[in-house]
Amino acid sequence: MIASQPKVTKLLVNSIQRHRVAHAYLFEGGNGVGKREVSIRFAKSLLCEATTEPCGECHHCKRIDSRNHPSLYRIRPDGQSIKVDQIRELQKHIQVKSMEGSKRIYIIEHADKMNVQAANSLLKFLEEPKGEVVALLLTERPNKILPTI
Ligand SMILES: [Zn+2]
Repeated sequence: MIASQPKVTKLLVNSIQRHRVAHAYLFEGGNGVGKREVSIRFAKSLLCEATTEPCGECHHCKRIDSRNHPSLYRIRPDGQSIKVDQIRELQKHIQVKSMEGSKRIYIIEHADKMNVQAANSLLKFLEEPKGEVVALLLTERPNKILPTI
């Protein structure tokens, strides 16, 4: 992990502490700089029972570690691209769950690999936030993402 990543984490944590969590975040950087780790850590800090740094001990942290937290939905390319069906699945998941009123987070890895349909679908979804939903988009090539995000 390169030196700038802890800074990013700090920035994110700060924004939570100030109750300024934006609706969507972009994590950029080359392969191997720890984007995924930082995004998961961010998801933890949003869901963890501890108020500042994620504790790593509570059931939220543990379920995130074992990849079965119901409030965290992760997608990555299915083959060469992220397809519109994957975005629809994501929307379904987020909408159903957010009716319960709790926080929802989704992580999209290689967000630049969304095909046009998928990107448009996500864009619409981002424009109409439902409850407390936070989007984390990971990319190695931020210039390839739709400029409106
Ligand atoms: Zn925790």
